[in-house]
Amino acid sequence: MSQAPMTLDMFIHGEWHAGSSGDRIEVMNPAKGELLATVPDGGQDEIDRAVESAHEGLAAWRATHPRQRSKVLYQIATTLQERAEEFATLYTLNSGSSMWTGLWTMNDVAGRRFEYYAGMADKIRGDTFVTPGEYLSYTLREPVGVTGHIIPWNGPLWIGSRTIAPALAAGNAVVIKPSKEAPLTLLKFAEMATECGLPPGVLNVVTGRGSTMGDRFAGHPGFDGIYFTGSTATGRRIMEQSAGNEVHSVMELGGKSPNIVFEDCDMESALDGAIMAIFANSGQICVAGSRLLVQESIHDEFVEKLVARARDVKIGGPDAGALMGPVITARQKERILDYIESGRAEAELVTGGGTPPDPELQDGYFLEPTIFDRVPNGARIAREEIFGPVLSVTSFVDQDEAVMLANDTDYGLASAVWTENLMRAHQMAEAIEAGQVYVNHYYTAAFEISRSSYKASGHGISEGPDAINEYLTHKAVSIKTGESSWE
Ligand code: NAD
Repeated sequence: MSQAPMTLDMFIHGEWHAGSSGDRIEVMNPAKGELLATVPDGGQDEIDRAVESAHEGLAAWRATHPRQRSKVLYQIATTLQERAEEFATLYTLNSGSSMWTGLWTMNDVAGRRFEYYAGMADKIRGDTFVTPGEYLSYTLREPVGVTGHIIPWNGPLWIGSRTIAPALAAGNAVVIKPSKEAPLTLLKFAEMATECGLPPGVLNVVTGRGSTMGDRFAGHPGFDGIYFTGSTATGRRIMEQSAGNEVHSVMELGGKSPNIVFEDCDMESALDGAIMAIFANSGQICVAGSRLLVQESIHDEFVEKLVARARDVKIGGPDAGALMGPVITARQKERILDYIESGRAEAELVTGGGTPPDPELQDGYFLEPTIFDRVPNGARIAREEIFGPVLSVTSFVDQDEAVMLANDTDYGLASAVWTENLMRAHQMAEAIEAGQVYVNHYYTAAFEISRSSYKASGHGISEGPDAINEYLTHKAVSIKTGESSWE
């Protein structure tokens, strides 16, 4: 049964704000194609107010003892985990993802990141360098300041926690702009985090359309840092908008990741991995394995088995226990169908290509798992990020050709290699130009390890201990302690 649509406002300085224009944005439930909620269509006034609030919050937060900051972040982690079901339900209603993904996100991704960076808040240190009897030099590590975070719709807390947790641990204030498609969990999260002890203004969330808010956000002169996750095209635009303000930035952009299967792989595991890599969350994952490179000697057998598995992939809404949910909007569905049309002219469609026939899925934005075989690496479907359940299969003869094809892309976000040959696994890990290399699995990455991206997939460090440096400045202090031999 349908629920009445929710009304959520913006969260600024620890309070809800309806926005000055009175205009609202409709947020849809993609599994049902029906209205889920409305949020304010904010603009310049709300960005100004949120940035001003963040400057006030910054003063309080950077003066807070690091041990206390650590306690607040830990409280956020445990509260999110305790309320995982409530947040997961909101997230899945808004994204169409499975409940399993929602619970995993709250407990093991966002909750885990807040735990991890809670532990780092009181371990931020600098260097000392002593020239005996002359100088004592040391680094002061200071928060960057007021940081703007722009978050895509696929997993707002999964992705948002990656920049919000280290930013708060380092003593920064945060203004978040979620996507207009999926703003709900971040709004509720900001309220919850404030109840956990963040001073007012430390975590603010503004909502609006690209046209009313997006274009005014990144260029706001009140920001000291911009942390963007989204498509490469938008990332480039944001870099231009913020260029005049000399801000710190991390750009987590798009991908077209190669999933490389050698003849010496464990074929059953590689088949399962290839299905997960492209069809989990309907391919709407930045690191999705959207280009499958298969060694020619096993190509026919592998593709035949892969197609059989793709036809068995379960499709459904959040509670269906399905691997594939809907795509996020009707517009995104049309965009993906357009890619499928262009693929038909460039390669061999071996399964899928349309809307699933199940009558229960007709109102939501569902698509079939789709595989194209014999895709030339220059084809549009092999080069552009589709962000949907569409796989391109290309074969290679030997390891050199696999490396050449893997790296022949504008992107460098992630990759996977399937082989039982340990030496080959290491050689491939070195040769692939991507920030993440999975070997004999797909998707399981340790948040405790730092990584960065290659080429058009962005810049800056994410995750792990080194990411904290993206949210801190290094101030070098040099104190004269005696007569200098340099003078
Ligand atoms: P998008 O680039 O369309 O939007 C991302 C965010 O930018 C949204 O909040 C959007 O409202 C905002 N935005 C759009 N125009 C703007 C502007 N002019 N100024 C300021 N903000 C603006 O991306 P999307 O469709 O929401 O998400 C999918 C994309 O995100 C894919 O390309 C995917 O690969 C990428 N992504 C990357 C990672 C990563 O870690 N590298 C993770 C998740 C998603």
